Amino acid sequence: MNLTEHTDQSNTLMSLVEELYPLNRSITGDGVRQTLKIIEKRLPLTIHEVATGTKVLDWEVPNEWNIRDAWVKNSKGEKIIDFKESNLHVLNYSTPIHKKVNLSELTAHVFTLPEHPTWIPYRTSYYNENWGFCMRHADFLELKEDEYEVFIDADLAAGHLTYGEFYHQGELTEEFLLVTHICHPSLANDNLTGISVAAHLGAMLQTQQTRYSYRILFLPVTIGAITWLSINEAKLNRIKFGLVLSLLGDNGPFHYKKSRRGDTLIDTIVETYFEHSSAASELLPFSPYGYDERQFCSPGFNLPVGRLTRAVHGEFPEYHTSADNLTFINQTKLNESFEVIKELIVMAENDKTYYNTNPKGEPQLGRRGLFKTIGGQRNTKNFQMALLWVLNLSDGENSLIDISKKSGLDFSSINEATQSLLAVNLLQEVELIN
Ligand code: ZN
Repeated sequence: MNLTEHTDQSNTLMSLVEELYPLNRSITGDGVRQTLKIIEKRLPLTIHEVATGTKVLDWEVPNEWNIRDAWVKNSKGEKIIDFKESNLHVLNYSTPIHKKVNLSELTAHVFTLPEHPTWIPYRTSYYNENWGFCMRHADFLELKEDEYEVFIDADLAAGHLTYGEFYHQGELTEEFLLVTHICHPSLANDNLTGISVAAHLGAMLQTQQTRYSYRILFLPVTIGAITWLSINEAKLNRIKFGLVLSLLGDNGPFHYKKSRRGDTLIDTIVETYFEHSSAASELLPFSPYGYDERQFCSPGFNLPVGRLTRAVHGEFPEYHTSADNLTFINQTKLNESFEVIKELIVMAENDKTYYNTNPKGEPQLGRRGLFKTIGGQRNTKNFQMALLWVLNLSDGENSLIDISKKSGLDFSSINEATQSLLAVNLLQEVELIN
């Protein structure tokens, strides 16, 4: 599989982010449903609804939260905070409230960012019932002693947790799993970029015949992953590779966080890819903090799931603030992220193991049109070297990624040489012999 045809999704990556940006989302509720509906215009999804109170591993599906409006008015009736101006203004999962409070009670329920006084913070209170507002610190400093009317028109009641699942059947039942979270309101990099890249990868994959099967999960963070793992525990041994995707549209270098095991095939694929890529990157060891790799890599599952982002969760000033907006990300970086993950998929698909069918002495490559007597092409030397490495190491023990690592040659050169050797019957796939 080379994924070169019909795979240009670049022009719509940013437009999906823009379409999803205005919606208010949370770990449950209609914002999640609307988000999945918009994704479904590009990708067929199975939508799952799991009832409040359902036991999932050590957790329970919470009440569903929906909000219609929220504001704070001063005694003159002027709105000093308005949910309709930004959905970040309300503490996500706030309980409904309508009452009059003095400045000190209001202050106890207000969150600001003194170090970035013009940004609105994003705060949540999913598992601890509370009400609250988030505002610019500069506006907060203007507040005077007064009687304030606070109003949050929301429901927090029995309902469902909603998530979406895309599945593409390949030749094998073994799966490549992609996971992205869908629970943040108007924040762009975290995580509309992850949603858009994942949706477009799915749209590309569904037009291809693939060796592996592909599953893409669009989940509310933590509780969604725990719910999915709880429901699918019996099938987890199908997962051969996995990537948690987020933060893919900023200008930073790529960061790959290894799986808990640290030496799984997805770790090797990503490591080998970035060794030869012009894209700046950094490898991070596993840690039990971050996104849903925490659940997939909990010790009882310990799945081969790493995390690919550009910026790192919690380590950039715009993180979880109104400054993580549409101007913080750009199409060029989104496209690059899409292309990198596409290449990782190509590596996974093509990482096979072969036997050299003519292992005694070097086969005569010139007779087979593979030894170029006239040089000059830029990659000729790489190609010739790749032929020699693939022939020498194809003893049924080394996969193409092993050969790439041992030779120091990039995977695409190794793969290109392999395809040429297959065409003249100098290689035979190990699986086909068995
Ligand atoms: Zn987040």
